[in-house]
Amino acid sequence: MSENQESDNSRPSLQGRRRNNNRRYRQKRSFPECPICNQSVKFLLTAISVGEENKPAHFDCVIKMIAEKQSLGPREKISYIGNGNFAVVSGKPGKDLNIRKIIEFEGRESTGEWRKRLSRNLKNR
Ligand SMILES: [Zn+2]
Repeated sequence: MSENQESDNSRPSLQGRRRNNNRRYRQKRSFPECPICNQSVKFLLTAISVGEENKPAHFDCVIKMIAEKQSLGPREKISYIGNGNFAVVSGKPGKDLNIRKIIEFEGRESTGEWRKRLSRNLKNR
């Protein structure tokens, strides 16, 4: 009989709160909208293209969406493994990382126009 009566008042920690710097860029072009959360995608570098139209979506939104579709075990999580692929993994990277399932998400050939434009911009730097 172990009664762990530790007071576990699960208060939401402030750690997860992101600081929102309200930078006022004068951006003429508007940001594309994330098809998952409908908010603007400001960082295309970390965006993932989703859907038939290959719209850029937030990385975090995609992770969340995949996690909801997969039935994750208690120690499993979704991790990005590159080339538009995600995986259901458990364990720790570099130690005992276990890939249970690979989820091809972003078709290599179906990258949207936004991604092409982005890589063009990067090359011109
Ligand atoms: Zn989003």
